[in-house]
Amino acid sequence: MAAPGTPPPLAPETAGADSGGGSGEHRQLPELIRLKRNGGHLSEADIRNFVHALMDGRAQDTQIGAMLMAIRLQGMDLEETSVLTQALAESGQQLEWPKAWHQQLVDKHSTGGVGDKVSLVLAPALAACGCKVPMISGRSLGHTGGTLDKLESIPGFSVTQSPEQVQMLQILEEVGCCIVGQSEKLVPADGILYAARDVTATVDSVPLITASILSKKAVEGLSTLVVDVKFGGAAVFPDQEKARELAKMLVRVGMGLGLQVAAALTAMDNPLGRNVGHTLEVEEALLCLDGAGPPDLRDLVIRLAGGAILWLSGQAETQDQGAARVAAALDDGSALHRFQLMLSAQGVDPGLARALCSGSPTQRRQLLPHARKQEELLSPADGIVECVRALPLACVLHELGAGRSRAGQPIRPGVGAELLVDVGQWLSRGTPWLRVHLDGPALSSQQRRTLLGALVLSDRAPFKAPSPFAELVLPPTTP
Ligand code: URA
Repeated sequence: MAAPGTPPPLAPETAGADSGGGSGEHRQLPELIRLKRNGGHLSEADIRNFVHALMDGRAQDTQIGAMLMAIRLQGMDLEETSVLTQALAESGQQLEWPKAWHQQLVDKHSTGGVGDKVSLVLAPALAACGCKVPMISGRSLGHTGGTLDKLESIPGFSVTQSPEQVQMLQILEEVGCCIVGQSEKLVPADGILYAARDVTATVDSVPLITASILSKKAVEGLSTLVVDVKFGGAAVFPDQEKARELAKMLVRVGMGLGLQVAAALTAMDNPLGRNVGHTLEVEEALLCLDGAGPPDLRDLVIRLAGGAILWLSGQAETQDQGAARVAAALDDGSALHRFQLMLSAQGVDPGLARALCSGSPTQRRQLLPHARKQEELLSPADGIVECVRALPLACVLHELGAGRSRAGQPIRPGVGAELLVDVGQWLSRGTPWLRVHLDGPALSSQQRRTLLGALVLSDRAPFKAPSPFAELVLPPTTP
């Protein structure tokens, strides 16, 4: 990734905020790092220089990590964040589509959750409603799962299209949606930063998340984007106020790029749906595409796709109308049909795609890779399920092979867990509440303890679990 860089210049240490010296000439990377470390403002030339250094190998891994940490600790203002977003977007190819599609070109992105399989359902549902969804998605980051890894658990599915523009155009014409990964041609600089952030504790940064998400979306040539900004115990930002800050930055930077961006704040304390883990999440996405599946997942898909995207892009007159159209696409099989077409178009054997999309849940399980064994955990007491804490659950699954500790490391697609209970329901002592799918040795006693700690029981009355959807942050010009 990075070649040996230049030796550090003999620049004096500066104390406190500064805006750096050297006008005109490119500052050396250590100087840029020091400037940001001390709370200074990076100019457009500085930021573009840093991104060029990522691309041409001048930036050493240590310098990348140091700059990321400086940005994580000192932040970036709107102007710096906008320039970083543009520079990352311009590190690769810009996708172009027929002009007539402009209004229909829409997408959604998430800041990352546990059990978050919304994109797998939302993209084909929007395609069934007449949209074009050229989704550039991400891999698992930290404890959160990645859409690309989930799709790759389907034998044959390819997240790269080559050449991207030609293949994606064809798929969008014929199917209406495709889901691909960032690549050497698509936003390569984000690929470098994304991998480095994962291993340098710099994921939770408003400017870095904003630039990472919006650079990918800027090259998609969209009219409208909705970002699902998670908050809560298993989100990048546990605090709703901090998540709102990110939401506002996304909306503002998006506006500057000519992109209509809305951000939905949604709770991520419990896993979304009942399944966590790659193939298990594909199975649950298929259930939702059958018009069934867990209510929290269906509700979120309908609110994001219909209540936000169709409405904001002018394809539905009201939020309710948009939501009704997406619900109908899930119920009448048209979204499922688009998913089947997308699978075939992206490398899955058409017979397998058909079988997956028409089979029963049991038949589907036979068609996808699954883990070798299952272990069930029993409730230690009577009570109402107040919460199933997603973070400890995700951490144990990560340890069992569902996540990566190093970039590029293979994952175990069948590893995961099925919740056997819903939040708000009564659970008796000794009843199974979690089924863990695992490949390696049995759960260790520490892992069992951690998982048991995820189950929070209370003695309140049974209740209906609330929707994770909390609020929608809209651009100022919204009707
Ligand atoms: N998704 C991204 O693409 N980048 C982030 O930083 C977080 C979520």
